[in-house]
Order: sequence, then structure tokens, then C-alpha cells
Amino acid sequence: MIAWLLASWQDVLTQATPGGYAAALAFICLIQYVASLYGMTSSRNRNSAYKNQIDGLSTELSNLARDRQINRYENQLLREFVTQSDSGRAIALVLRRILPTTEEGFVVFFRPEGDRFVVDQSRGLSSEGRLTIAIDDSLLAQLITDPTIVLESQTLQRSALWASLNGLDRAKARSLFLLGMVDEGKLLGVIVSTQLFPAGVERPQQLELAERLIQSIGTTLRQRQSFEEQQSRLHLTSEMLQLREIADRKYDGPFKMIEELTRQLVRRCDASRGVLVLNPPEPGQALRVLAEGGEPLAIGIRDAAQKHLETLGREGLATQSILYLDSEALRRLGVLSLFGSALVVPLVQPHATIAALVLVRSQSSGFTKDAEALARWGADHLKTVLTRAVTQAHADRLARQDGLTELANRRTFDSQVQVEIQQAREYGTNCSLLIFDLDRFKSVNDRYGHRGGDLVLKSAAAVLRDKVSRVRASDRVLCARYGGEELVVLLPGFNAEGAMRVAETIRVGIEALEIDFDGTIIRATTSGGVATYPLHCDSADELVSAADAALYEAKASGRNRILKATERTALSARS
Ligand code: GH3
Ligand code: MG
Ligand code: MG
Repeated sequence: MIAWLLASWQDVLTQATPGGYAAALAFICLIQYVASLYGMTSSRNRNSAYKNQIDGLSTELSNLARDRQINRYENQLLREFVTQSDSGRAIALVLRRILPTTEEGFVVFFRPEGDRFVVDQSRGLSSEGRLTIAIDDSLLAQLITDPTIVLESQTLQRSALWASLNGLDRAKARSLFLLGMVDEGKLLGVIVSTQLFPAGVERPQQLELAERLIQSIGTTLRQRQSFEEQQSRLHLTSEMLQLREIADRKYDGPFKMIEELTRQLVRRCDASRGVLVLNPPEPGQALRVLAEGGEPLAIGIRDAAQKHLETLGREGLATQSILYLDSEALRRLGVLSLFGSALVVPLVQPHATIAALVLVRSQSSGFTKDAEALARWGADHLKTVLTRAVTQAHADRLARQDGLTELANRRTFDSQVQVEIQQAREYGTNCSLLIFDLDRFKSVNDRYGHRGGDLVLKSAAAVLRDKVSRVRASDRVLCARYGGEELVVLLPGFNAEGAMRVAETIRVGIEALEIDFDGTIIRATTSGGVATYPLHCDSADELVSAADAALYEAKASGRNRILKATERTALSARS
């Protein structure tokens, strides 16, 4: 432009005329004006360029400040995260930071369990929502490559996640943010939240922070989880070994061992109380509490607590799957206030649920994962032990029992009489024996056949059982089939007079029988002999001989009577 003006000035001078001087002067003025105008414009341009530069610089500075703030926030949260004592607490902290107050929103942490993602922890979510909320499989797959997903309006309402929310939770969810914790191509957990953090920062920055934070947490979480898993596996293994040791110790019977195992399980699972209930053979029958453990219950609440434990046991037996019950679920079952949380593990066999292990805590904080794993293992172990015990008890009973009369058999009697006489000798007490022999039993067989004879024998045995069940200390009394149609009753602690009274009620009872054999009534009588240690004998063998001798006398003196051994019979038996 300047060059053009100078060229024009040359033209004006070379073509100068007197009239032209004024024109030239005017031209100079014009040029000066144009030049000053140009100077102003270019300085204005320069100014605006400077301004732009300064604006850019200040934006960058504020971005930097904001980034520093976000960084600080991220660092602070990560620091807090790694200083938590376990990953559960660490996650809880993150959820608290994302959602400081629960009125307006909710946040949920999902963890993988098998091939599903289940709710691990939540804040602000309704308790029904906790049970139903589920993430779409497609979203779970997407999270692996795209760890932050925002669901809004249409996309939100079309999702299965939205469908799984109840009304209360939907009202809080204008948009949902899904944050995937990914490590080595695996989804370790998912946070679903109605809001992002920190509040007051624009969404792109929030998303950026969330993504960075979640990835750092994901890596830390995996390391922490694998460490915790190792720790808990170690702990669990040692607990299992100790429980196995319990099973290997010597016990008075298999059920004593089950009692001890249950007590130990209750303690090691950190339960305040626990019971092992046996499934009744018929539905509707009362449950049998096989074993129990934990803190003793105050007398005032004992009955109510026991009833509640049985209710829980029945629930476990009915559902045949593990039940985790928080205070609300307990309230729904009518188990009020006494317990804060419960874990019910049924002992399931292929064809039947044999029992249920019920563990309760007074606190509403439920059982830890370790406790739960131990309870599962313990229940499984108890199942094996219990099945073995029941089978063994059944076999033992059969081995000790006579098949026809269901009284103890001869072998059981022979060993028991030795034990009882030894005890009587040690403690200086009495021990009496009754021997019965049915009268003219051969003729019963002759008239009614062997089947009729068997029925009479069974009926006589039932009389023995019935009369004996009414005597004192009946749990120590033993009824046995001694031989063919000879039945015996061993009465520890009974003197001769007491034993005679019991024998007489049995004789009368058998005499009163009207045995219906295919419509025909059979009657029977019995003779009996009674002997007492130490009055009539010095040993178990002599006791049997003395009672047998008295029986012989009873037969000889007309039958259907009881005779007591005398010094004389006792002496003769000994000789
Ligand atoms: P007594 O009054 O002298 O005892 O006369 P008895 O006929 O009962 O004589 P004894 O005791 O010698 O006869 C026992 C009979 O009991 C012989 C046998 O056939 C019968 N018997 C033994 N065991 C059984 C059994 O399990 N079932 C049946 N039906 N009969 C049996
Ligand atoms: Mg006989
Ligand atoms: Mg007989």
C-alpha cells in the first residue's frame, strides 16, 4: 500500500503544474490521513492478536488449575482408597465420595459372582431395588472396551437396567453412569451411579476423572483382592483343618462329635448363636435340635429365641438353598428384634435335605465372606459326619437288637450285665435281673403255628417295654431277648423287692393280653425268676444262674408266677 502511495506521489510531482500544487498538497494530506488510518488499524489488529493470545493463556492457566484440582482430588481419593483395611471398606469409601448424601440418588457396586454380576454394596438404593437391579449383558460387554457409559433418556429407558429398577429408584435416576473397573481385559466390578463427582465440575471433566480413577482403583482392587483371597484361603484352610481335627478326636458317640463341631462352627463363623436342626421324617412334625452353640440366652428370651431359630431352620429346609437374611428379611419371616442377621445352610443330599445349620448374629452387619465360606464347608462336613453317624447308629441298633421282638439281643445283654455288675460292685449298689419264660409256648406254636407263636412273643415283648418305661431310671433299664421265648430285664439300682414289683406288673400285663391272631384271641401267661446282686450272687454269671434257678422253681410250682431267688437257690446255682 505504501509503495503504491509513493508511486502515485512521483506521478503527481512529475506532472506538476501551478494549479496542480494545490492538488498535490491535498493529495499529501490525503496520504497522511490514509497512512495514519493504516497505522491505527494495524495497531488495533496487533492488540486483538495480543488479546487472543492472553485469553488463550488464561484459559490454559485455568485448565491447568482445574486439572491440578482434579488431580488432587484423584490423588486424595486413591490415597484414601489404598489405606483402607480391606477392599470392602475401600469400595464403600468410593461410593461415599461419589454420593455424599443418599436422598437424591443412588450408587451401586457390582462384583462378579460366577457368570453374573451381583450387588456387593450400595448407597441410596431401596432394599427391594438391591434384590432386583441387574445390568444388561450388552452393557457389561461394552464396559470392557469403553469403561464409562452414560445412559440418558431413550437409551436409559430402553435398558434392562432401567427395567430392573423399582419406582423409588427410578425417580432418582435421570441419567445413569456406568463405570467399569477393567484389569487385563477383565471386568472386576461395575459402579452404577445416578451422579458423578466432584459436584460443580462440568461433565466431560467428571467423566475423565471417573475413568482415570476407576482404572487406578481397578488395578489396586485386583491386587488387593488377590491378596485378600490368598489370606482368606489360608485362613479358611487352617479353620477347616482345625475342624477336621475336632472330628478326629475321640467321642462317646458320633452325636457328641456333631455337637462339638456345631459349637466350633458357631464360634468360628463369628455367630452369636447357632443350631443344627434335623429334618423331621414327616412334614409338620416338630423339628429336633441336634446341636447348638454360641452365647447362652437369657432366661427371659430363651424360648422365643429358640422358636425363631427353628423357624429359620424350617425356612432353610423348605427352600433347600442357602439363605442370607438381613434384619428386614428376618422381620418378614416374623423373626423380630432378637437377631440382626442370619445365615441358614441346608444340608442337602441328592434325595433329601437332612438338616439345616442356622447361624445368627445379634448385629445387623451380616456374615463376612470368610465366615460364609466356612459355614458352607462346615455344613458340608456336618452332612458327611451326620450321614455316617445316622447310618452307624442304625447299624449299631440293628446289631444290638433282636429282629423279632425289637428288644436288645443276647449279645448286648451279655456285655451289659457285666458292665452293670461291675458298676454295682464299685458303687456298692444293687442290680437286679428278671428272667421270664412263656408258659407252654410249644402248645401255642402247635395250635396257631409259628406265625401265631411269633405274634405272642412280640406282644409279650411289648408288655416288657411298656411296663419298664414307667419305672424310675428307665433309661438305664435293659430289656432283652435271652433265647427262644425267654425275655430278660436288667434293673440297675433295684433291690429284690423293687425288682419283684416290676416283675409282677409284667406278669399281670402278659396275663391280661388278648392277642388278636387273624380274628382269634390268643392268651398267654409267663413265669419269672428274680435275682439281685449282691443279695443272691457275687457276679454277673451267678446273677443269671440265680434268676434262672428261681424261674425253674416258678415253673415247677405251677407256672404264671414270679419267684425270687433265695439264699438256697443262689447257693445251689453256684454249686
Ligand atoms: P414251659 O412252660 O415249660 O416253658 O413250656 P414250653 O412249651 O414253653 O417249653 P419250652 O420253653 O421248652 O419250649 C420253647 C418253645 O418255644 C420251643 C420253640 O419251638 C418255641 N420257640 C422258640 N423260639 C421261638 C420263636 O422265635 N418263634 C416261635 N413261634 N416259637 C419259638
Ligand atoms: Mg423256654
Ligand atoms: Mg416256655
